[in-house]
Amino acid sequence: MTQSMHVVRDVRLLPCISYAPAVTAGADDMLSCDLMIRGGTITDILPAGTAPPAAPVMIDGKGRILLPLFADIHTHIDKSFIWDRTPNPDGTFAGALGAVERDREAFWTPDDVQARMEFSLQCAWAHGIGALRTHLDTIGAHGDAVWPLFRELQARWSSRIALQAVCLVMLERYCDSAAAAAMARTVAETPGGILGAVIMHDNATSERLDVLFDLAEQYDCDLDLHVDENGFADTTALELIADKAISRKSTRQIVCGHCCSLARQAPGRQKEIIARVRDAGISIVSLPTCNLYLQDRSAGTTPFWRGVTLVHELADAGVPVMFASDNVRDPFFPYGDYDLLDVFSRAVRIAHLDSPIGNWPQAVTTRPAQLMGRNHILRAGGAADFVMTGARTMNGVLSRPSSGRQLVRDGKLITPTLPHYDDLPIGISGETVRNSLQS
Ligand SMILES: [Zn+2]
Repeated sequence: MTQSMHVVRDVRLLPCISYAPAVTAGADDMLSCDLMIRGGTITDILPAGTAPPAAPVMIDGKGRILLPLFADIHTHIDKSFIWDRTPNPDGTFAGALGAVERDREAFWTPDDVQARMEFSLQCAWAHGIGALRTHLDTIGAHGDAVWPLFRELQARWSSRIALQAVCLVMLERYCDSAAAAAMARTVAETPGGILGAVIMHDNATSERLDVLFDLAEQYDCDLDLHVDENGFADTTALELIADKAISRKSTRQIVCGHCCSLARQAPGRQKEIIARVRDAGISIVSLPTCNLYLQDRSAGTTPFWRGVTLVHELADAGVPVMFASDNVRDPFFPYGDYDLLDVFSRAVRIAHLDSPIGNWPQAVTTRPAQLMGRNHILRAGGAADFVMTGARTMNGVLSRPSSGRQLVRDGKLITPTLPHYDDLPIGISGETVRNSLQS
């Protein structure tokens, strides 16, 4: 049976995340288009007003902006949504580490973790995320249990969100060769599995990085690292990682997240390090909401550093820069909802990504998608998966990121609903559990 044609009429696309050679950009640098949809595919992108009049209209966009699906390349779905039962007592990084450890010990049964991971994906799905990479705490009993849980989730969600996972351990964990090999096997057995580590100035050594890079090559895995999540002014691990990738002529994909302390180096050093990062082919993920919350925090003092890495300078040097959610409603960051448009809206304010917005919309859509092996560019022949915003200008989109959003998935207009907090596992509704933790 032939699938019928539909039209998404009069929408505007951003040239940096779309391919529509038949359409000329207007004075506002937007592409006013009609999208022809057949089944789950965009068959053509035409100038607005030129779609065949007989084609049934799926959406009349009235000039609103249409975006590709988002790709959230740095998350922690196994930690999410524990804030109400185990908040961070003082809002610091150390406070977050301790709180997560307490919560993990007390509550992280497979049922609890599975339910919170599922809830996370339901939120992400409802917000238009089509690809998501999560770090998974890979320690103790949880480390053994979480990977099979993730693989089950990955298979069950495969038609909705493409999932990847990274093992999250301190770099020194790789020095235990038997444990490291077992972990690498688990990662490598997981489709798209990636080796990860937390690396800072005080645990980064050339020898440890060699062990990690050796394992990545042996098990054919890419690397996604938590790097320099601090504000120390005189040193970075990022440079050591870049030097290692260059000296080893590594062909692995290397993503470094956070890299906050790069912003605190002397200007000359910043330039040198950025050049090494570029030469090493490293991509950078900034986690602006989490960094704003944790960095430069000290009780009774007003923060003045925004916590983010040098996103403009990195991008200007040719380093791929992305933004992602990071932690959601856990002791590292008490807010968020797996809404990458909301994160981007905040990133624009935090890091001055506007005036002009330029290619920055790539940083939460097509660029992370590409690193995850996906093509989210809106184009003829591409999947009819996209996000209809509620505004005609990017200023409107960024001012009301959560308003008026519609989703088209697999060529169908859908209205996903966010899961209710009541659907979270027992014990995430506040007082009862906090009391039980204290007793
Ligand atoms: Zn993280």
